[in-house]
Amino acid sequence: MVSEPSGQAVTGAGAVLAILRDGRARTRAELAQLTGLARSTVSHRLDALMSQRWVVPTEDAISSGGRPAVAFAFNENVRVVLAADLGATHARLAVLDLGLDVLAERAVELPIDAGPEATLGWLVGAFEEMLAETGRDLGQVCGVGVGLPGPVEHSSGRPVNPPIMPGWDAFPVPEWLGERIGAPVLADNDVNIMALGEHWTAGPAVDHLIFIKIGTGIGCGIIAGGKLHRGAQGAAGDVGHIQVPSASDTVCRCGNVGCLEAVASGASMAAALRAQGVEARGSRDVVALLRAGDSRAAQLIRQAGREVGRVMASIVNFFNPSTIVLGGDIAEAGEHLLAGVRETIYSRSLPLATQHLTIRASTLGDRAGVIGAAVMVVEHVLAPDSIDQAVTVDPAAVG
Ligand SMILES: [Zn+2]
Repeated sequence: MVSEPSGQAVTGAGAVLAILRDGRARTRAELAQLTGLARSTVSHRLDALMSQRWVVPTEDAISSGGRPAVAFAFNENVRVVLAADLGATHARLAVLDLGLDVLAERAVELPIDAGPEATLGWLVGAFEEMLAETGRDLGQVCGVGVGLPGPVEHSSGRPVNPPIMPGWDAFPVPEWLGERIGAPVLADNDVNIMALGEHWTAGPAVDHLIFIKIGTGIGCGIIAGGKLHRGAQGAAGDVGHIQVPSASDTVCRCGNVGCLEAVASGASMAAALRAQGVEARGSRDVVALLRAGDSRAAQLIRQAGREVGRVMASIVNFFNPSTIVLGGDIAEAGEHLLAGVRETIYSRSLPLATQHLTIRASTLGDRAGVIGAAVMVVEHVLAPDSIDQAVTVDPAAVG
């Protein structure tokens, strides 16, 4: 018997696969050394993984002086992931392999207020077409990740009183989609999945990351200790309704006065521009005006950056992240927004907390949501426990 008390987690087939997920092929001897398992046990684990093609022997044998040894690699193509990032009015869909390479992608106008059955029904048809484009079918789908523009109870994947999604409250998104696609479905709010996407891109060295989305509203996703922090009820990160002094006489859409969102969101900036006689419907128009050289839009964005920075400065002191990523439509304003955010964070946070702090714009842009939805699925499907169950290692071979 292997001595580790948590036997399966350390020594199962899933743990072997977890090592190979970095993309480097390894020999039996290397895997035995890395896991502390006997080489015969490693062979059993590899056989189990190869029986379902999670792992394949590579063409190039690795020579270590004597007889060349066969190396084994994670098979990123064995299954595909479906990802959907649904916004208020538009959606982005992707088919990805297990290495998170995008195989097919679509961005469409899709109003979420059409209701869950119309929206998700369309989604199933679109996914089938995209699978066909890539020469795949539903049988190869290992999971579906969905981001929704409202609060979601993560354990059930059901929206909870979503303000801009009529008809979606408590709708069983995972069950409804799962029945039609035949694979597990995970749902979360859009900001959380974007945070997962940005964290995956930043790499495992970044353990504490805050992703802040500034679009029509303002929200943030929190990566703590390498994991998404959802809070007790899944409501963590709702920074848009934190009180700021400059908004003390402004009414927010939540009904309160003084919220950050009431002075720094795309919706509030568009409203401020309209009050000055400028035509601006929402966040995209605000950024378009900035790009066209409108100084009023530039000033509003800079000031919004300072307001966001003021709230973030408190969060930096409290949470000590190593990276803050700005995303959402308004982040397209680039330096105009970043300058305001940086200015306030650096002047109001503790020096120790900002010493190695990176504040930057999203690198994934519009793709953060679908990449993050796929990360959520892959981490679930390829978790060592899930793989151990999937390959059901022969008990006689344990140990
Ligand atoms: Zn509010």
